[in-house]
Amino acid sequence: MQILRFAQGDILHMKKKHPCGDERFRVLRTGSDVRVRCEGCGRDMTFSRIALEKMIRKVEADDPSEAN
Ligand SMILES: [Zn+2]
Repeated sequence: MQILRFAQGDILHMKKKHPCGDERFRVLRTGSDVRVRCEGCGRDMTFSRIALEKMIRKVEADDPSEAN
């Protein structure tokens, strides 16, 4: 089974789009529960880590060297 690692500041690409049409969620806080914010509409959501990992398609690491 694939293990997904993500950290605060990373962008998560979800398997299922948010109703606003965006599939990217930024990680605001990690722990046993993970708080994320939709990059499209800015809505905050909290998921258990287990539930969230099942929803992730891809992790885009927050790389400061690529900041614009
Ligand atoms: Zn949204």
